[in-house]
Amino acid sequence: MIVDEEKCVGCGVCVLYCPVNAISLERGKARIDEARCVECYTCYRSGVCPEDAIRTTALGWPREIRNAFSDVASSHKVTGIPGRGTEEMKTNDVTDRYGWGEVGFCVELGRPGLGTSFKEAEKVSIALAGKGVEFEKQNPYTHLIDESGKLRFNIGEERVISCLIEFKTNLENVPEILRTLRSLESEVETVFTVGVISRFNPDGSIPVLPLIESEGFKVRPNAKINLGLGKRSGGGSW
Ligand code: SF4
Ligand code: SF4
Repeated sequence: MIVDEEKCVGCGVCVLYCPVNAISLERGKARIDEARCVECYTCYRSGVCPEDAIRTTALGWPREIRNAFSDVASSHKVTGIPGRGTEEMKTNDVTDRYGWGEVGFCVELGRPGLGTSFKEAEKVSIALAGKGVEFEKQNPYTHLIDESGKLRFNIGEERVISCLIEFKTNLENVPEILRTLRSLESEVETVFTVGVISRFNPDGSIPVLPLIESEGFKVRPNAKINLGLGKRSGGGSW
């Protein structure tokens, strides 16, 4: 993303639109910090510039991966999935992605407001690999790592608006996974959140809940149940 300095009048409106604070005003002109820009195209697509001074540039490898992970309108070449994660965690009633005795995890790095580089995501996937987790095959980030959680490409410095790491594990493995994630708090140089996906029992109890609370985490349950065609019996997900 670049600014045409001939056209820019320095109104500063575009500065407010950048979700990772990559645009600033310098000497009366908008300037985009190339290292910080995640190529989300928000400044361009919003049409906010009254002078039509914001322009896209052709993105080659590896910079194009910034756009693939940061632009909601972009689909990943490998998975064909737009965005950064998958939808299955929200539709477990019909996909059965998380069976009985299984627990899903979604670790999101970079949001809100900071973004992340892939080297930060790599710290998480390396720590998790070999700990009884199965990385989600349809997740775009999974396509970038090997079985040890290391990046398969030289993209550690590439920045994206956020990166989702999705995986599942067995119920009894949950405390170990939570401890591993907590140990990364001081290592990972961006914010990250942890989502835990579990079926609930027919009696309404949530099997993973006491395991999370016993590790000292505060839980904010968030339920979703699909109704109508495609609904399976035996519990939704939360
Ligand atoms: S493309 Fe996105 S990250 Fe880059 S300057 Fe524009 S709004 Fe900011
Ligand atoms: S909105 Fe357009 S004219 Fe205003 S500062 Fe940004 S690039 Fe310059």
